[in-house]
Amino acid sequence: MVPDRVYAEMTMPQAFMVAEILFGAADLHDLTSPVHGNCPLWCATHQDSRLDAVGRGAFHCSRQFSVEAHGPELRKVDVSISVLAIDAGGQRTLTMELVVAGREPIRLTAAEARQLAVQLLNAVDAHTTALADASATR
Ligand SMILES: [Zn+2]
Repeated sequence: MVPDRVYAEMTMPQAFMVAEILFGAADLHDLTSPVHGNCPLWCATHQDSRLDAVGRGAFHCSRQFSVEAHGPELRKVDVSISVLAIDAGGQRTLTMELVVAGREPIRLTAAEARQLAVQLLNAVDAHTTALADASATR
């Protein structure tokens, strides 16, 4: 299922903070053992699933890293990212979930999270350059 489009407006410092939590969560994702079994150090919400043929399954979720974004139209929009490790069938699947405004979580790979962070930083750059150009021509 393709999630609905979600929106957030944010100031430049908030865009930096969102980029920072995206990079941070992507690093956490990449540093996590890909081996099924042990609880990752960052596990904040843990759920055991039932025994399967290969052993115990589990769902590990990090805490949510969040930024409250405010724009001229949209205010108090939470942008959150968390890391998940799903142990099932003797294998571990690592993923990340982005939640904007409490809507349906959007699954991201670490590469996609970093790409999104870079796009935010590029938008901040473009905006800063536009502001500098506008003040230089005054
Ligand atoms: Zn756990």
